[in-house]
Amino acid sequence: MFKLVALDLDGTIVEFNIPFNLIRERLGIRDGFILERILQERDEKRKAEMLKILIEFELESARNAKLVLYAKELLELLRKKKIIHGIVTRNSRRSVEIIAERFDLNFDFVISREDAKPKPSEEPIRMLIEKFKVESNETLVVGDFLFDLIAGKKARAKTALIVHRRNSNMLENFKPYADYIFYSLRELAEFLGGKNDS
Ligand SMILES: [Mg+2]
Repeated sequence: MFKLVALDLDGTIVEFNIPFNLIRERLGIRDGFILERILQERDEKRKAEMLKILIEFELESARNAKLVLYAKELLELLRKKKIIHGIVTRNSRRSVEIIAERFDLNFDFVISREDAKPKPSEEPIRMLIEKFKVESNETLVVGDFLFDLIAGKKARAKTALIVHRRNSNMLENFKPYADYIFYSLRELAEFLGGKNDS
């Protein structure tokens, strides 16, 4: 059914535990999304400083991140099923490299915020559809946040929401954007395994 699976990183494959409130404090940001606030900064020098602070926190989190239960098995299944798979993240490329190295993970693609407009932009998903010459409805975008689902929907791909302890209170807001809802990566793996067996 699906020829390409685009996985979110933080909260989906690994648990970063990025201290968003501490970062906001360090950056002097009261509200809004940190990355968007940085990207909107017009003073280039200030923007570079803010980005540097964000990256320091992200890399520290990447070095301490934990693999989500069943992530490894999911990636192995995707490899076995020859489903093109990889990461689309709002995080930096270096963070993905640290995670891949630490947990010995291999991806067919990695699109970080250096490569395309960050989700909720559909740009990274569209790039993948074009690059790997798949149809949008053969593409599954997997994530644990609204931005993952919106990016997928705007690219006319199918979307899968992974529900966990920290996002379960936002479920009602996310639901309208999710074609599928899974409560673990194991559930997602079973879904992909079953659908591709025929
Ligand atoms: Mg996430």
